[in-house]
Formats: sequence, structure tokens, C-alpha cells
Amino acid sequence: MKVSVDPDICQGHGVCRMSAPELFHLREEDGQAYVKSEDVPAGAEEAARLGAASCPERAITVRDT
Ligand code: SF4
Repeated sequence: MKVSVDPDICQGHGVCRMSAPELFHLREEDGQAYVKSEDVPAGAEEAARLGAASCPERAITVRDT
């Protein structure tokens, strides 16, 4: 599974981080979300889906690979 954050859409609400802090991080400069790796670790699939569903901007894409 892959997960990514579109920086053009992200508004930095941080809801994704609250939903799945193991996957989503916020940049100190502007609060935008990012993932350290697009590869979702085994066992974190549900967290990736939860984070994506929580984003009010729909900035997070989850893809089954
Ligand atoms: S919830 Fe969405 S808009 Fe907010 S920081 Fe996360 S990716 Fe960005």
C-alpha cells in the first residue's frame, strides 16, 4: 500500500496527524503534512485509510499496490 499527501491541497489542519501520528508528520515551517515514506508499513494500512478519511481537504491518497 502507498500513501501520499498532495502539498498543493493540504491546508495544514493536522487532523491526519491526530488520526494516525505514526504515518503523518507536520512540517515545522508551515504545518503542512508529509509522510516519511510512501510505503505503508505492514500493519499500518488501517491507520493510512483512517488518516486519508479524516482529511477535510481530501489531500491524502491511499493506493493498494
Ligand atoms: S488533514 Fe489533510 S489538510 Fe490537514 S494537514 Fe493532514 S493532509 Fe493536510
